[in-house]
Amino acid sequence: MSLAPSAFADRTLEAAGVGGWEMDIATGTLRWSSVTFRIHEVEPPHTPPLSEALDFYPPEARPLVADAVAQAIAHGTPWDLELPFITARGRHIWVRACGRAERDGDRTIKLVGAFEDITARHELAQRAERLSVVARQMTNGVIITDAQGLTEWVNDAFCRLTGFTLDEMRGHKPGHLLQGPETDPATSATMRARLARGEGFEVEIVNYTKQREAYWMAITCTPLQDASGALTGFIAVESDITARHRAEQEVQRLLAEQQRAEALLRDVLEALPSAVSAYDPDLRLILTNSAYAAMFPLAAPFAQPGTPLEALLRQAAQAGQYPEAGDSPGERDAWVAARLARHKVPSPAHTLALPEGRFVLASESRSESGNLVCVRMDTTELQQAEAALRIQAEQDPLTHLANRSCLMAALEQQLAPAVAGLADAGALLLFDVDHFKQINDTLGHDVGDAVLIEVGARLRARARTNDVAARLGGDEFAVLLPGLGDEAALAARATGLLSALTQPMQIGGRQLDITISAGVTRYPADAADALTLMKNADLALYEAKRQGRARWSAFRPEQAVELARHTRIATALRAALGQGGIQVALQPKRLLRGGHAGFEALARWHDGTHWVPPAAFIPVAEATGLITPLGTAVLDAALARVRALRDLGHSPGRVAVNVTGPQLLHADFVTDITALLFRHGLSPADLELEITETVLIGRAAEQIEKTLRALRALGVALALDDFGTGFASLAHLSRLPIDRLKIDRSFVAEIGQGGRGGVIARTVVGLARSLGMESVAEGVETDEQLAFLREEGCDAAQGYLFSRPLLSLEEACAYLRTATEAAAGRLVRLRGA
Ligand code: C2E
Ligand code: CA
Ligand code: CA
Repeated sequence: MSLAPSAFADRTLEAAGVGGWEMDIATGTLRWSSVTFRIHEVEPPHTPPLSEALDFYPPEARPLVADAVAQAIAHGTPWDLELPFITARGRHIWVRACGRAERDGDRTIKLVGAFEDITARHELAQRAERLSVVARQMTNGVIITDAQGLTEWVNDAFCRLTGFTLDEMRGHKPGHLLQGPETDPATSATMRARLARGEGFEVEIVNYTKQREAYWMAITCTPLQDASGALTGFIAVESDITARHRAEQEVQRLLAEQQRAEALLRDVLEALPSAVSAYDPDLRLILTNSAYAAMFPLAAPFAQPGTPLEALLRQAAQAGQYPEAGDSPGERDAWVAARLARHKVPSPAHTLALPEGRFVLASESRSESGNLVCVRMDTTELQQAEAALRIQAEQDPLTHLANRSCLMAALEQQLAPAVAGLADAGALLLFDVDHFKQINDTLGHDVGDAVLIEVGARLRARARTNDVAARLGGDEFAVLLPGLGDEAALAARATGLLSALTQPMQIGGRQLDITISAGVTRYPADAADALTLMKNADLALYEAKRQGRARWSAFRPEQAVELARHTRIATALRAALGQGGIQVALQPKRLLRGGHAGFEALARWHDGTHWVPPAAFIPVAEATGLITPLGTAVLDAALARVRALRDLGHSPGRVAVNVTGPQLLHADFVTDITALLFRHGLSPADLELEITETVLIGRAAEQIEKTLRALRALGVALALDDFGTGFASLAHLSRLPIDRLKIDRSFVAEIGQGGRGGVIARTVVGLARSLGMESVAEGVETDEQLAFLREEGCDAAQGYLFSRPLLSLEEACAYLRTATEAAAGRLVRLRGA
């Protein structure tokens, strides 16, 4: 039920959703418009009594309403309240209730008011309030701009972030204040374009604070529209992502660094000349470098990352990558197992053989992370260089034969298994060029070298595959002959070699004839070690030289004993010479037509225990060089003895002294003789020197001939000793200034033995006579020999038949006295006849 006068107003309000009401104070009746009914959710037409109307407000709001009503009634005060409200159906809403009093004088007669459901607006306001709290409270910066992008509002966080205040920002475009040199121009252009189109965006960009510090910002910008869809502005939320960005940059940097490190590792691996392969702790292949592929071409096809090492080894071995792996599957299995075991523990570097004679030095190491890293270095060239060096170290540079140390090594290698019975017996030959020193001295070192080279070449040419031909130094050569244990075969070989080596040589346009002496010894028969074998060969060689050189001699075990004796004698002889321990015995010579013919002086040495025979110590003296001081001592003693006999009134005649090649080669020999004769008050006519034929055919024959001529010119007589046992040629004899030939004792001993007995003695006598020389027979012991020699016309004789060598001065005096008396007696007899 509505009032007529207010019907228009009521309808107008109704259209705006605003209800109306009035209350008559006198009656207390309440009237509502339809909208008011609707808001209350009460069905018209019955309005509730005023007391009940108040119950629609929740208890906390009731006093407000009651108070406002009371004030209006009492004083006519109007009210306008926004209040919580509970509809008849129990919905909680918000209402705006306003009212005023209509008065009659100072008495209120009526209350009228409007009533409006403001729930939607209230909630909106509340939400807006909450949002603004959020915007203020949030740590992200918030900017609100108008449609042109001019700042309307910023939150506290924005101010904290940028250092700009709201006032400083308001009316400005944010970009103008916030962007700077490091801001990406492309990103800011995108932002501007989207803003211009009224579109939102999300970007990350470098902004600057008011203090111009750069920071990274993530911006989410959203366009704002009104209900009609028109753009009203933008709201941008910004968050500082500098830390995140730094972290990302750090990650990028680390990533790049890692990539660089990996690239570097790759580069290093690729640059390495060594093959590298790496396996994880489960021995699966991780990587190889290209040197690996080049070094192991047969294994490379199987070397894929992830391949188990075992499979790789097996396949590579089968493909023939590792010759040492063997050919059969069984051998290969064993090899693979051994290789895997080697990878379990760090193994020292070891050498692997590859096909085509190549070698690699292999080493495996486990890293701390458990990876296995295998490095293989190609050492083929290194090994070849090493081999070349070894050859150099083992080779004699002049002849390119093996050198001494190489030969010794070869000896040791051959001897051990031969001694153990595991290898054939063999032999060692030791060579020595006879009188090489004289070749050097007279023809020069170039010729000497050429001779050595030629001998070396000949030796090499005749060596069998397994023989080791060596030059030991100087003019000494050796050849090791494995398998040549048979004595007859060895003798043939030694003879053949010697003959080949001494064939005439053409050197420097001249022909050279050399001779060579050799010692032969066998193993294991004669020696169990290399040093002994070498010593044996040396002894045999010495023996060959002693026998006159230009021959070979085989080692005899007795030689070792002889050597010891030899050494002992040399030592004692040296001492004796120093102490004047050498004496002479004089053995008389007798003219066969009658009369004393002088003496031969023979060296005598008592070593403290016995008389050492000259046959024992003369060769030692010759071999050790003691022959020169010995010869001087004998000469001195012999001349002293002649002097003594003269002084006692005797006529001892010439004294013959034995001299050897080395003495005659001494440059001062003639001068020394002259001085000695002078010292003892004797003349050259008192001395005769006995030389052997061998002295005349040696290498220095020319020089010796010169010395002999000088001696002869001086007046010293010369006798050729032991004639017939050596090789003196008739040419030598006719050319040399020899006074007499001494028929060797062995031929005299044959006289009266029948057959050829005495033939040589007779020949020598005839030869001497035809050359104008005298002949002297040695070792005459019997009357029969004497008679024969006298018959043949021999000039003189010497032997036990007449006298033994006489050691003391008294014996010599006694002999001379008898000899003189005998001569006198014969004279008396002749006169008497
Ligand atoms: P040789 O020069 O032929 O000396 C003669 C040797 O014959 C001496 O031996 C002498 O004692 C020995 N003899 C003399 N008459 C007879 C005899 O009727 N029957 C026998 N069976 N032998 C007789 P010795 O003294 O033992 O000397 C041996 C060799 O030693 C010498 O042979 C000589 O070659 C060498 N010799 C001795 N003294 C010297 C020396 O001072 N210098 C050098 N270089 N050699 C010497
Ligand atoms: Ca003699
Ligand atoms: Ca003699």
